[in-house]
Amino acid sequence: MEDCVFCKIVRGELPASKVYEDDAVLAFRDIRPQAPVHVLVVPKKHVASLMDLTDEDAALAGRLFAAARAVARQEGVAESGFRFLTNTGPDSGQVVFHLHFHVMGGRRLGAMG
Ligand code: C5P
Repeated sequence: MEDCVFCKIVRGELPASKVYEDDAVLAFRDIRPQAPVHVLVVPKKHVASLMDLTDEDAALAGRLFAAARAVARQEGVAESGFRFLTNTGPDSGQVVFHLHFHVMGGRRLGAMG
């Protein structure tokens, strides 16, 4: 997508602090971290949100989850625990409409709501 900020990061047109990359997935540090570890895991192909994944994306979904596990291990939160979430649609507060999973940890996280 031409104007999508995360597509621009995937294409290298915008800088990002990358922590993981493979042929299908990129993970980079959130620019406004809400926890000591706050990494975004995104598919390289443009998908607007979780609701836009299709049955054909089943393998990609697995790749995103695998990348999140790799990031958690790499960032040292696999044992202490972390949150893995995606905001979807207006009520969630989603602001970037390129599917991304937040990997957040490194401190005791509060209740969500
Ligand atoms: O609410 P949503 O999950 O859509 O939030 C998007 C996230 O993307 C925010 O945490 C924001 O700090 C992050 N972001 C980023 N780099 C950008 C633009 C947004 O890390 N260039």
